[in-house]
Amino acid sequence: MKKFWSVLVVGVMMFMAGSVFAADDAGFVASKGGEKYHYATCPVAKKITADKLVKFATPEEAIKAGYSACKTCNPPPTAGALVATKDGKAYHKQNCRMVANMDAANKVYYKDAAAAEKDGYKACKVCFKDATPTPQPSPTGKPATKAKK
Ligand SMILES: [Zn+2]
Ligand SMILES: [Zn+2]
Repeated sequence: MKKFWSVLVVGVMMFMAGSVFAADDAGFVASKGGEKYHYATCPVAKKITADKLVKFATPEEAIKAGYSACKTCNPPPTAGALVATKDGKAYHKQNCRMVANMDAANKVYYKDAAAAEKDGYKACKVCFKDATPTPQPSPTGKPATKAKK
């Protein structure tokens, strides 16, 4: 029983540490003088020393600065790119919960739905169901307004 509790405590601590890192690791990074941009969570990016670390909010900024996508973490080419897996059948928005479980090396990106459908992918039923990307209830209670085209 004692062992059970210690395992549980370690698990909770790891979970908490993970949450802290997740909040800290938003966005994209590159190394000054390097060629690639990464997800901030990429193992390659973790090796970039603080004095060389450059941060970007979007992939567009990184590309504009002359960086190209890392092959290890496979970051998106644009902030609005749609995501699919090489062996999958659906394409997703980047904020879809299905995307979080994808293997980075298995991801493919499409600039829009038409391009993804041309390759035989269908819209994900989870993230394309409606215009409520976040499950958190808004404090104002106002329904999310659809983005204008
Ligand atoms: Zn990377
Ligand atoms: Zn999805």
